[in-house]
Amino acid sequence: MIKENLEQVNLKIADAAKNSPYGQDVTLIAVSKTKPASCIEEAYAAGQRDFGENKVQELCDKYEVLPKDIRWHLIGHLQTNKVKYVVGKTCLIHSVDSLHLAEEIERQAGKKGCDVDILIQVNISHEESKSGFDSSEVTGMIRQIAKLEHVHIRGLMTIAPLTDDKKLLRNIFRELKNLSIDIDELNIDNTEMSVLSMGMSGDFYEAIEEGSTMVRIGTAIFGERNYNI
Ligand SMILES: *Cc1c(COP(=O)(O)O)cnc(C)c1O
Repeated sequence: MIKENLEQVNLKIADAAKNSPYGQDVTLIAVSKTKPASCIEEAYAAGQRDFGENKVQELCDKYEVLPKDIRWHLIGHLQTNKVKYVVGKTCLIHSVDSLHLAEEIERQAGKKGCDVDILIQVNISHEESKSGFDSSEVTGMIRQIAKLEHVHIRGLMTIAPLTDDKKLLRNIFRELKNLSIDIDELNIDNTEMSVLSMGMSGDFYEAIEEGSTMVRIGTAIFGERNYNI
């Protein structure tokens, strides 16, 4: 089932990418939160290597027992006191939403002697319930975070609202893409805008057509989540 779902999702991604005016490559992140390691192993056997988790503890537990060539993405809100557990284990932290958090990542990376790739989370839709910087704050924040030695900004991330309104979704994706173009033109040191992490099971097709380079897909691969575990 997981193997077939992955094939379907990959076909849809390729189709959407063909329609994108940006000609970008798209990386699929299989969001495995709440799912057991056995589900990840099934996806891994089908060739999937990038996996996303939203909780530090769960990522660390799975990291221990699963193959070491898996690329782990932390996609959920990261508390400062948990940074020490993930530095050195993640290929990309998608959810940097404060200077304070970036500074703690810097401190832990310095201690471990490693570098950490991050994305800046932007709250395009201004939803109270969502983390992320306001669009207007992003450039100023990036200028400060870019000064950190071990932390490297690779792009932007957003979570679109849960809605079927495709027009609204497209506007949100387009706004993030335009923001990344504007920031790219500033040529800030230690800052790349090569990654645009946007699109989930319900909206990834539109996100890719609007320029997404990383889609975070859970339900369409692993099925509905059981929120009680
Ligand atoms: C859970 C989650 C996803 C995946 O959502 P689906 O709708 O299951 O594809 C993507 N991004 C983030 C940040 C998530 O927490």
